Amino acid sequence: MKVLALVLVLVGLAAASPSGPVNRDITGAQVIRVNPTRASHLYYLHGLFMQDLYDFWTEPRAVGKNVDIMAQRWMVPVLKATLSKVGIEYSVIIPDLGDLTEKSKIANDRALEMAKRRNTNAKHNMDWTAYHRLDDLYDYMDYLAETYSHIVKVKTIGTSYEGRDMKMLKLSNGGFRKPIVFIDGGIHAREWVSTATVSYIMSQMVENREDYPFLDHVDFIFMPTINPDGYEYSHTNDRYWRKTRSKTGVFGCKGVDPNRNWDFHWNEVGTSNNPCSDIYSGPEPFSEIEMQNVRDQLNKYADRIKVYLTFHAFSQLWMYPWGYTYALPDDWVDLDDLARDAVDSLTAFYGTSYEVGSSTNTIYPAAGGSDDWAKGVAGIKYTYTVELRDTGNFGFLLPPGQIIPTGQETLEAVKTIGSFVASN
Ligand SMILES: [Zn+2]
Repeated sequence: MKVLALVLVLVGLAAASPSGPVNRDITGAQVIRVNPTRASHLYYLHGLFMQDLYDFWTEPRAVGKNVDIMAQRWMVPVLKATLSKVGIEYSVIIPDLGDLTEKSKIANDRALEMAKRRNTNAKHNMDWTAYHRLDDLYDYMDYLAETYSHIVKVKTIGTSYEGRDMKMLKLSNGGFRKPIVFIDGGIHAREWVSTATVSYIMSQMVENREDYPFLDHVDFIFMPTINPDGYEYSHTNDRYWRKTRSKTGVFGCKGVDPNRNWDFHWNEVGTSNNPCSDIYSGPEPFSEIEMQNVRDQLNKYADRIKVYLTFHAFSQLWMYPWGYTYALPDDWVDLDDLARDAVDSLTAFYGTSYEVGSSTNTIYPAAGGSDDWAKGVAGIKYTYTVELRDTGNFGFLLPPGQIIPTGQETLEAVKTIGSFVASN
């Protein structure tokens, strides 16, 4: 009897989880925005976040900062009742996520179709007016390697859990042991604008090389998507898939949060041991082959990498370590200075505002992130996690029309960083 009860509880947990065993059903799901107006609200919301019952599109981080929570249809009344009971005001910002997701898919498919029709390049279909699939991105990287073979090298650094290539592009005009800026994106599958932005910056710097004089002194490494299985899955099956796609062995729940999987204070805080959770840290540090592959590249170039940038979406935050503790690194002032310079350049372009700060002073502590590892283990001084556009109006469904503006303004920040590395 006891066993049966336990099984029922576990099955219930798995089914209620945002990334449960079956595909997440978003029909009638809602996104609810709450505004914690006092510390007790914040504390309560963080507790709710750690329970894995809902998909938090933005994490609770400070009094007065909105938190957007996605609840599946059958959980909507439960969430609303819970919030009312605690006295936290809420508003429904997406009344039917299924409907909105379908519309957004139609819009992106149309944009892809138009991009294909406009395209005159026989070698690839890539552009930045739509969110492209992995094949388009990889064809484009191969095209760059072929067309700009004197400055570009594209390497497959390994394969993903499901056997997809993991491609890395190195941009260098020669020279010996130049400093490197390493940029990755797409660690969280559903954050499409991250992959699009990294590939946009890569494209601009390769195809208009002469506009970036710092490239005489600095090499760049780009990995636009370091979670290719998740990325594809978010296109084909579940738009809100965040994790990798590895088998974790419990009720068919799949995947690990790749940004909780790095071996530095692993699993200490802000993570989950429930394999069905969206913030599952994995059975052990570096359990995910994709993160092993990226780690190996960071290790390989560690003594030359001056800046590590890892792009996420959304919230418009420019964050530096530590993520696992409220303490700051000894040299945090240096990191803060460069972050503010980068953000000033970004904001000057379209007026988009960003918050700058250490991860734990900007969001709640979470251990196992790639930026913490890059600084704490690989010894890279300047490591940043950047949450791109927007602040929640569209969230993960940022319209394709915003890819280029996001890319342009973010490129300004990267230019500031490139010039800084070149002159130091
Ligand atoms: Zn993310």
